[in-house]
Amino acid sequence: MKDVKLDPSEESTYECFDCGTVVVSATAPGRCPSCGADMRNRATPLE
Ligand SMILES: [Zn+2]
Repeated sequence: MKDVKLDPSEESTYECFDCGTVVVSATAPGRCPSCGADMRNRATPLE
């Protein structure tokens, strides 16, 4: 296993749990701009 390198300048895709709004940002938006729900990084595998 290799270390996962996180490039802070790299944009990630975040998806709202609640309404499905997608935000592309270099930093975690934290909250959905549409409904205020939590967002998750799509690049992070949950399975
Ligand atoms: Zn939302």
